[in-house]
Amino acid sequence: MFNLAEYPLPFRETDLVPYMSVETVRTHHDKHMGAYIANLNKLIDGTEYADMDLHEIILASAKDKNATKVFNNAAQIFNHEFFFNCLGRGNTLIPDLISDAFGGVSEFKEKFKSVANDVFGSGWVWVVQNSNKKFEIMSTANADTPIVHGLKPVLVLDLWEHAYYLDYQNRRAEFIDNFLEFLIDWKFVLDNLNVE
Ligand code: MN
Repeated sequence: MFNLAEYPLPFRETDLVPYMSVETVRTHHDKHMGAYIANLNKLIDGTEYADMDLHEIILASAKDKNATKVFNNAAQIFNHEFFFNCLGRGNTLIPDLISDAFGGVSEFKEKFKSVANDVFGSGWVWVVQNSNKKFEIMSTANADTPIVHGLKPVLVLDLWEHAYYLDYQNRRAEFIDNFLEFLIDWKFVLDNLNVE
C-alpha cells in the first residue's frame, strides 16, 4: 500500500507564491497525487504488483498490455514526486554543469521552452541524462516517464493543465517562463546527478 504521507512536499505551500499559488500546490499534491495513490492501491490489491516497490511496478507494468491503468497511476506517482522535489527552496541559479551542456544559460532556456511549447495535450518536459550521461531535453505524453526508456531524470516540469490552470489559465508559456526563472530548485537537481 502506498500513502500520500510518504510523499511530503519538500517546501512550504506558501514558498512558491506568486508563481504557484497555495491553492494550486494543495490541489496538485493532495488531490491529484493523492488520487493516483488511491487508484494504484485499488488496482494492485490482490495482484502480482501488490508486493513490488514503485519502481518495480512501473518497469513491470510498462511491459504488461493488461496493466495500462497500473502503469499510468504508478508512473504519475513517480513523476509527481520528482516534480515536487524539483521545486521550491530558493536555489534558482542555474548551474554551469547544466547550462554549459546546452551552450549557455539562454540557449538552455530557449531549448527547454521550445520543447515545452511543443507539448500538445497533457505531458511532461524533462532534462534527462542518457546512458552516456549526456544531458538531453525531451517531453513525454500523459504518464510516460524516462525511467522506462533507460534515461535518468534530472529535471521535470508538469504541463498537465492541473499544474497551472488555476494560476495561469491559457497562459501556459508564462508558467513555463516562471518555472525556469523562479520555481526550480537547482540544488536538488545537482544533488541528484550522476557526475562521477
Ligand atoms: Mn500533475
